[in-house]
Amino acid sequence: MTTTPDFPQPGILFRDLTGLMADGPALRQVTDALLSRMPADIDAVVGVEARGFLFAAAAAHSRGIGVYPIRKAGKLPGPLLSETYDLEYGTATIQLQPDSLAPGSRVYVLDDLLATGGTLAAAVRLLERAGYVVVGLGVAIELTGLGGREAVAGYPVHALIELP
Ligand code: IMP
Repeated sequence: MTTTPDFPQPGILFRDLTGLMADGPALRQVTDALLSRMPADIDAVVGVEARGFLFAAAAAHSRGIGVYPIRKAGKLPGPLLSETYDLEYGTATIQLQPDSLAPGSRVYVLDDLLATGGTLAAAVRLLERAGYVVVGLGVAIELTGLGGREAVAGYPVHALIELP
């Protein structure tokens, strides 16, 4: 992992997992660790665009279950549900396509990193509006001190690495 100051804008210390994901043994180790925390009784792994897709697909493949994407606005055809939220930098809108996964499905959400929790909180709102049961949330890295866990209070959060 590399750390880049002032990216994508001044004042942000950006943690980048690109090198870790390009390293086969490291990717396997992180994916296995995420999988070890994922409950057994889930129907699909939700991946949050974009790096969450990579972990979610690897984890879903290993379990033999589906991967269900939450995408940035404008990428999926409708009908869609949308949520807009504040990011550590700027705002964003994410969407899902509720017709693609049966209501009542038990889902586990994976993303690369938890910062303010805005993204995962919006993902949970979307998933619950669609009628899914969110059984937990997993990230490779948690930036502690930004309130991420509080933003998703009440949901189990599994973080492999905590950084200040
Ligand atoms: P949050 O919504 O503030 O928790 O930010 C988490 C989302 O923004 C995740 O989807 C991350 O991919 C992305 N993100 C925020 N900060 C960083 C960072 O330092 N490195 C990589 N991704 C980040």
